[in-house]
Amino acid sequence: MTSALMPTYARQPIAFVKGQGCWLYDADGQAYLDALTGIAVCGLGHAHPVVAKAIAEQAETLVHTSNLYQVPLQEALGQALRRVSGMEFCFFSNSGAEANEAAIKLARVFGHQKNIAEPTIIVMENSFHGRTMATLSATGNKKVQIGFEPLVQGFVRVPFDDISAIEQAIAENPNIVAILVEPIQGEGGIRVSKQGFAYLEALRRICDQHDLLLMLDEIQTGNGRTGKYFAYQHTQIKPDVVTTAKGLGNGFPIGACLVQGKARDLFKPGNHGSTYGGTPLACRAALTVVELLEQGPIDNAATVGQYLIASFRDKLADLDVQVNGHGMMIGIRLPRPCAELVGLARDEEKLLLNVTADSVIRLLPTLTLTQSEADEIILRVCRLVRRYLA
Ligand SMILES: *Cc1c(COP(=O)(O)O)cnc(C)c1O
Repeated sequence: MTSALMPTYARQPIAFVKGQGCWLYDADGQAYLDALTGIAVCGLGHAHPVVAKAIAEQAETLVHTSNLYQVPLQEALGQALRRVSGMEFCFFSNSGAEANEAAIKLARVFGHQKNIAEPTIIVMENSFHGRTMATLSATGNKKVQIGFEPLVQGFVRVPFDDISAIEQAIAENPNIVAILVEPIQGEGGIRVSKQGFAYLEALRRICDQHDLLLMLDEIQTGNGRTGKYFAYQHTQIKPDVVTTAKGLGNGFPIGACLVQGKARDLFKPGNHGSTYGGTPLACRAALTVVELLEQGPIDNAATVGQYLIASFRDKLADLDVQVNGHGMMIGIRLPRPCAELVGLARDEEKLLLNVTADSVIRLLPTLTLTQSEADEIILRVCRLVRRYLA
């Protein structure tokens, strides 16, 4: 029988029927060490018992009522996110791209309030912001855009980690209203600024100086991934807008757009909405995740992530590779394209990973990874890389 699915993905010839922690199992019971966790989604590990119980209980109680009514669990999740982020207000979506759509709309409202008829957002080369029309237009990757022109207007692009390029773009264009940036570029190849998180402080200064919104896409870096709840919390600054999704529901679909400061009062009733966004079920799942993340996994991500990065640097020091990242967001850049490593890792090492930006092995393990599970990832990845580069 031919597949009933549109071929939007070049899927690997494997399916999993069960998961537990950092392990996935196929129908034959073969275990795979999951160093990708559904692309930075299952930070607490697969089939987390507390999250599973919360979802099951809520499903038996109330799944959805719509945003025409009060949704107390949405309020509770909003308060929890306020506490962990220092932001003020939330809008809940069902995905990362939708959270970014809200951010882009906020920037336009902000611009129009300043009487800028064509508000324009500074975005970065090699960025990834999603697959909807506005977010793919913001994305700095031609492969995501080709075939879908005309793109949405209102973006100007500069190189990542180049403050003077941003200053020049602002000087040349009076329509700039915001900067949208990933604190660490994920799909773009785990790119960390040369200044580390001080890059965000520099961006904050520019946004303050020119009255722009600082909008951080923390869809991948959020929810403990880099060893703080949000990556900007490695600094003293706050963005005006932050978006997140991926790890927020540990696999249950939910996204959020959080605002404070200059962006806190931009949306009014009727400006934005979503039928599903913030259902009792999604919010119960996410509320459980946020509470669990605080009870150790984020600190664990910081320490075990540091151990992973240091170990890779040490054990691969004699090879022409570069190890980048922070916490449980790790990239190993190889000297040549290495897409076939995904299949080799899976078949030869029973290890699930991803290759992005052609030549970067991307590891996004569970935040709850133990030292011995980390050692197992190190062993399998190093064996794989050595064989590949031999
Ligand atoms: C995954 C991702 C998105 C898109 O999220 P979806 O849930 O797939 O829409 C946007 N930005 C970043 C940084 C991401 O990693």
